[in-house]
Amino acid sequence: MLRAGILGGGQLGRMLIQAAIDLDLKVYVLDSAPDSPCAGIAHRFVVGSVREADTVERFAGDVDLLTLELEEVSVEGLRRASAKGIQVAPAPDLVALLQDKGLQRQAYAKAGFPSPPFQLWEPGEPIQLEFPLIQKTRRGGYDGRGVQRVPSPDALWPVPSLLEAEVPIAKEISVIVARSRRGEIRAFPPVESVFHPKAHVVEYLRIPADLPPEAAQTAQALALDLAAHLEVVGLLAVELFYTTDGRFFLNESAPRPHNTGHVTVKACWTSQFEQHWRALLGLPLGDTRVHTPAGLVNLLGPEGQHGRVSFPTLPELLALPGTSVHLYGKRRSSPYRKLGHVLVLVEDPAELPDRIAAVRQRLQIEVQPE
Ligand code: ADP
Repeated sequence: MLRAGILGGGQLGRMLIQAAIDLDLKVYVLDSAPDSPCAGIAHRFVVGSVREADTVERFAGDVDLLTLELEEVSVEGLRRASAKGIQVAPAPDLVALLQDKGLQRQAYAKAGFPSPPFQLWEPGEPIQLEFPLIQKTRRGGYDGRGVQRVPSPDALWPVPSLLEAEVPIAKEISVIVARSRRGEIRAFPPVESVFHPKAHVVEYLRIPADLPPEAAQTAQALALDLAAHLEVVGLLAVELFYTTDGRFFLNESAPRPHNTGHVTVKACWTSQFEQHWRALLGLPLGDTRVHTPAGLVNLLGPEGQHGRVSFPTLPELLALPGTSVHLYGKRRSSPYRKLGHVLVLVEDPAELPDRIAAVRQRLQIEVQPE
């Protein structure tokens, strides 16, 4: 039985395990949190830091192939594993590039992918862009952390950053692409996400995106070109801005399954998780078409509350037609933490706004301080 190692034991790893079972893979997981979502369900769960080269190297010594569910891992560890002949996907150099928003943006612009005007900035340097602008810390940001809209120079964080001109965003779109180790490449149809206005975390999303057909094709083509250009093996989740005047800009991309791809589990002929394994194993990629339009509402930790979480309206949510719930196994909530999601399947995409609204109305997340 092939042993696959995953760096990171969060919900993405958990859903990768679900798909790995069908292919009879033995999944090993490395995460520093003993109560992470993969604990108790991985074939072997190793407690240790994905950011430590030695720990990653030791973990990799027990597996045949090594992948990840978050980018903030030790690239040195990945390199050592690769040097020992272990299949590492995504490739260490690609992970290094995508870990740094500045290098990522530079590479996209250099290769001619549509990018907003930008500047790699060190504190004290003159600003070449107009205000308001968007500031992004180069490393370690996620779910909106490390990103801010800056109205004037005095509001800049004094840290090395990627500064970008503000794009007039009409819709936030993502396209998940898979490229197999044999070079076969396929894109899922675009997903449209709506972000929490304060927290920048995705609140809900839908597949198919509500886009003109040509725009959907352009988005897919851009994402396919990017995945081919980066020679990714496995998934690449490509985030795009669709502007008020009908253009696309590349935002950032991630070499792993993505929150916006969870809809593929029930909406598409193949899920993003199955597709990732197919790509890594060099198997033919699956059909990515949507067979059932779907919406997804994230279960996010309520603002300002920490503690033990429960979902008292679960029965009401499940009583809605076409809904299913996926809980990530996190007992503790913190503000905007992704705790699970509700999927809603429909026959006609025109029903999606109402059906998503019905789910959102019934959501209730209770947090008990411990
Ligand atoms: P994260 O790592 O948190 O996903 P992103 O770089 O995707 O960070 O930025 C978070 C959000 O900030 C985006 O989803 C978008 O709403 C907004 N944003 C980012 N870059 C720009 C930009 N150049 N113009 C306008 N809004 C932006």
